[in-house]
Amino acid sequence: MKKIISIFMMAALVLTTGCALGGGNREGEKLLESYLENVDAYETSTRELGEPASYIYMDDRIAVAILYPETGIGQLDTEITAWTEAVAEEYKGMVKEATIQGEPLKTEDGETVENRAELTVSYESYYAGEQKVGVKLTGTFLSPALAHPVDLIKTFNADVQSGEIISIEDVLTEDGKSALVHMLTVQTGVAEADLDQHVFDYGVLTDSGIEIVLNRGDYLPMSEGTKTAFFAYKDIRNLLVDSFDDTRERPEPPEDESVETSAPLEARAIDPDKPMVALTFDDGPGAHTDRLLDVFEKHGGKGTFFVLGNLIEGREETLQRTAAEGHEVAGHSWNHRQLTNLTEEEVKDQIMMTRAKIYDVTGKDSLVVRAPYGACDEMVQGVGKKLGVSFYNWSIDTLDWLTRDPAAIEKEIMDNVSDGDIILCHDLHETTVDAMESVIPKLIQKGYQLVTVSELMSYSDEKVQAGGLYTQQ
Ligand code: ZN
Repeated sequence: MKKIISIFMMAALVLTTGCALGGGNREGEKLLESYLENVDAYETSTRELGEPASYIYMDDRIAVAILYPETGIGQLDTEITAWTEAVAEEYKGMVKEATIQGEPLKTEDGETVENRAELTVSYESYYAGEQKVGVKLTGTFLSPALAHPVDLIKTFNADVQSGEIISIEDVLTEDGKSALVHMLTVQTGVAEADLDQHVFDYGVLTDSGIEIVLNRGDYLPMSEGTKTAFFAYKDIRNLLVDSFDDTRERPEPPEDESVETSAPLEARAIDPDKPMVALTFDDGPGAHTDRLLDVFEKHGGKGTFFVLGNLIEGREETLQRTAAEGHEVAGHSWNHRQLTNLTEEEVKDQIMMTRAKIYDVTGKDSLVVRAPYGACDEMVQGVGKKLGVSFYNWSIDTLDWLTRDPAAIEKEIMDNVSDGDIILCHDLHETTVDAMESVIPKLIQKGYQLVTVSELMSYSDEKVQAGGLYTQQ
């Protein structure tokens, strides 16, 4: 009985602490309202095709986050994976070359650069009718050694039935090709004489037309930047081959996903005198998240899920289930940008857009944030303070993203775990969920209570401060 009372007192304390954050928190809540008003507009990228997958890598010199689709279409998946790996290697190599024998990256003036370089790529994917598909990957490379960011683009088009890669020319008639080139010069201002056979290289078949990207400096002066031309299928019907049919049975739009406000969760019986650890999972929600929830359901315990805002659409049910089963849903930025490379305004957007999306889908507000790559500095923490959120890194890094080996993940955890640890894992990897099938029961058997990050903090002597950065308790 005594125990239960202490749990309720703790809960009351957490609530009071929350209010006591004062101006910062109120500002955060006011902002949340305005971000919520626009929450539907955040979804800029169309992802009609494929499951989002990601390539995430980090070392001292570079942070890489490439989001790409797994489409199930033979050659398309092979090509996309090959491109992803090639781009990651190219930029990793580029950064390595910029360093001398493992010394830190330096600017042209010879000053040591403290920040890592960063490569971030995201994608759009489309059905162009029932038979053809298009994928466009766009990204940015930032390096402290470069004056300007570098833009990246890559497009793929494929035939659904054969699984083969096709080009834009494949859907155009002979006359159609030259007519489209002419229309391109009109739309972009490029002289026809300056064009060559590569002009369609960065073209993508979308759901409603052909999009052609002319990269900065390719056909136009650098100062004009990158230009995008768009031709709706309905306007260029006579240029398309007969076999190309852009009509498609469209699925009924999903019903409005209004959140059923679930009854407040019953207070869990957590014994403050017994050891506890927080298992945390970054970069989801993903294809394996539900299986991880099943593992928790089977053995008990709760986890913390640091989700990316731009991965939530399409996985609303997984997120709702995560929250409804008592796990903590927390923010990990909108699209995995390294926050220390951004302006204060951009950091605010990254945090608040994700917070609003989580609130919109689960009905719960979260003031818990993990910065991508764990990269936090005074500026980022200052923004967090204003918004009323705090940051959580980790005390055990399972390196699950690197090893992809359940046995290695389990060893890393079981060899190092102690009371109060925050353990870093990534639920987007199948091998991590495999590892959890044995790690979760083993931790419980060893006497650890598996708690969320907020639960861990509420049983700690340390008071959570807005803008604070925590790694263990
Ligand atoms: Zn991450």
